Amino acid sequence: MKQLKLPLLILTVFEIVAVTLWLTKDNLFYLFNFSYIGLSISLGVLLFTKGYKYARRVVQLLVGLYILVYLGFICQENMQIEGFWYYLFTGVFEAATIHYAVAKIFGPLIFGRGWCGYACWTAMVLDFLPYKQPQAPRKKLGWIRYVMFVASLVFVSALFLAKVGNIERIMFWAFVVGNILYYAVGIILAFAFKDNRAFCKYICPITVFLKPMSYFSLLRIKCDKDKCISCGKCKRVCPMDVDVTDNSRKRKNGTECILCMECVKNCPTKAL
Ligand code: SF4
Ligand code: SF4
Ligand code: SF4
Repeated sequence: MKQLKLPLLILTVFEIVAVTLWLTKDNLFYLFNFSYIGLSISLGVLLFTKGYKYARRVVQLLVGLYILVYLGFICQENMQIEGFWYYLFTGVFEAATIHYAVAKIFGPLIFGRGWCGYACWTAMVLDFLPYKQPQAPRKKLGWIRYVMFVASLVFVSALFLAKVGNIERIMFWAFVVGNILYYAVGIILAFAFKDNRAFCKYICPITVFLKPMSYFSLLRIKCDKDKCISCGKCKRVCPMDVDVTDNSRKRKNGTECILCMECVKNCPTKAL
């Protein structure tokens, strides 16, 4: 029963969101959508508590493929950042805007960058590459994410200002082309920098939302200093170069933690 507590709690939170949106927006899709995501995450947490090695990958594939294939390609919703700007400008509080509000803007106040560890369809592919732990020090290239962020905003604004017709169709193709480019750049960078998560660290524009919000996250990995023997293993296995032994919010790369639990699994003294 103890192992079921957390999965049930997560499922309940998602069901509250699912039922609230279903009733307020009178759309059964929200009931299906958030129930599916809640069930996938709960299943992953349950598998993790039972010690299953690939629990996180299971959630990544269940949620990532659902969003990419079903919502993106079949329902033709642009779930990337351009889609967020597009639905925001049209004043439609639908899939992409709700998705951003829940997973990437307000949700990180509670679960930090859990999205990046368990649901992102870009990282779902990048995490299959061979460099799970970075093989070289971090580069000072984080500024690229701001360029990408502004570029996406300028792109969508320009479409509206130029009064281009059928923007919805353009958004669909922007989603297809954007994903192909993201995967290509992500894979090239992973091999060039010997780091699967190089794309997340330097390029991804969504981190402009995720990083400041996750700074205040309730859910954080903490270190019990009495148990820590300073072996450094947690830092070596961390895909995001986080100094997890420092409990302050200002810890090095603190807003980069994706809650993947690799440090927790590998700590020899269970200090995390
Ligand atoms: S940083 Fe961007 S690409 Fe990486 S996991 Fe998070 S949302 Fe996905
Ligand atoms: S792996 Fe555990 S014991 Fe080693 S430095 Fe990290 S927290 Fe401390
Ligand atoms: S290894 Fe630990 S500190 Fe690093 S991203 Fe994963 S959970 Fe966060």
